Amino acid sequence: MRKKLLAANWKMHKTPEETLAFFREFLPLVAGHSRDEIVVCPPYTDVHAAIQSAEGSGVAIGVQNVHWKADGAYTGEISAPMLVSLGVTHVIVGHSERRQYFGETDDTVNLRLKTALEAGLTPICCVGEVLEEREAGLCDDVLRRQCVRAFHAISAKKAAKLVVAYEPVWAIGTGKTATPEVAAEAHAVIRSEAAEVFGPEFAVNLRILYGGSVKPDNASSLMAQPEIDGALVGGASLDPKSFTAIVKY
Ligand code: PEP
Repeated sequence: MRKKLLAANWKMHKTPEETLAFFREFLPLVAGHSRDEIVVCPPYTDVHAAIQSAEGSGVAIGVQNVHWKADGAYTGEISAPMLVSLGVTHVIVGHSERRQYFGETDDTVNLRLKTALEAGLTPICCVGEVLEEREAGLCDDVLRRQCVRAFHAISAKKAAKLVVAYEPVWAIGTGKTATPEVAAEAHAVIRSEAAEVFGPEFAVNLRILYGGSVKPDNASSLMAQPEIDGALVGGASLDPKSFTAIVKY
């Protein structure tokens, strides 16, 4: 059985004070919830507050990106050793907003993925098609290409902690959600590609999250799909009550 993972992607929201306030309200609401794994990925500037707040709670703290170099003259970047030393355990890699606005490519996703895995972080690798690709019938091809390139030159052993998030770009922040059936179909494509690259046994254990306008009112139908192993939640994760409702789908 794959344990479901509910991950919050706060994007560029919340100050450290707002982070402390979130955890003050959120942690009592999810205390003792052991059915699923819970991860919150705030902006870097909130990581310290988040880690201090979440200590001993079972809620893990992740971030939204990582550079592939350990250190050096890379102004504005953050490395895996820096994150590990803070107590960060998860990292989102290849989010569509990074691909769309910040020049992220399949190749840099691969570099970040390798680095995260080497450092012992759990990467949540995002893949997903834009609307034009879906409408042109290219969804499967896009997902296969993104996976093959992201997983390039990574062994199954090294990839043990890998998590993939299927995030159809047309569903992110739009209020449009893939139906559970559409999401499950895409997850099956990703799983079959993972089987090609890493082998069938790896693929059976790989957790594939769905992301794209997950809300309290659609979480349970999405999570009911056996192919869907959790959710990556943007907007609805900013409010403790709404993220709790998703966690407790
Ligand atoms: C996301 O940012 O990964 C996301 C899925 O956002 P939203 O839930 O707001 O669509």
